[in-house]
Amino acid sequence: MSQVAQLYHPSQYKKKLCVAADCEYSIYCSFAHSEDELKLKKLHLLERSHDFFIFDYKTVECPFMQQHDRKNCVYFHNPQDQRRRGGYSKEECKKWSKYQKVLSYEDSGCHPDCEKSHGWKERDFHLQIYKVRKCKGGCQKQAHCPFWHDQLDRRRAPTAAQTARWNAVQLDPSPFKNTLISSPSFKSSFYFADSDD
Ligand SMILES: [Zn+2]
Ligand SMILES: [Zn+2]
Ligand SMILES: [Zn+2]
Ligand SMILES: [Zn+2]
Repeated sequence: MSQVAQLYHPSQYKKKLCVAADCEYSIYCSFAHSEDELKLKKLHLLERSHDFFIFDYKTVECPFMQQHDRKNCVYFHNPQDQRRRGGYSKEECKKWSKYQKVLSYEDSGCHPDCEKSHGWKERDFHLQIYKVRKCKGGCQKQAHCPFWHDQLDRRRAPTAAQTARWNAVQLDPSPFKNTLISSPSFKSSFYFADSDD
């Protein structure tokens, strides 16, 4: 597929904000010229509830191509940062290395429909772990910490509704490859220590 065909493919079209100051392509541009035009779930506008962190946080590729606060960004920027919407187990996948630079699930030797956790974000924001475990303290993550800090913040166990919603997610067997590799943000370098994205 050519570069142009890729940009107008439904998987890419209007998924990123245009970075041109005065874009010559106007309405024909494949990038969005306003947040309203973005064709994706706008995670940054959603309320930051427990359900948000369990079901939405880091499940959509970041539409912001310019420099921004990636640490506090609710979108994902690379496969290590990415989470699926549910349907996976809290058990860690042995094929997934957080030290390996991968551009897709396939690169890691695994598949998007693997039922195990890939990376610490999938594990720690899992339905049965998120805010059920206590934070060890000295935490800089604040609102984005997956562990509880006080009793108000604490979850006991998933509700029946949350469990049903989690289990209803069908893991996508189709490769992410095309969308991930063609995306400019995935070509930038990244590393995988537990605290970074
Ligand atoms: Zn444009
Ligand atoms: Zn971002
Ligand atoms: Zn796996
Ligand atoms: Zn914490």
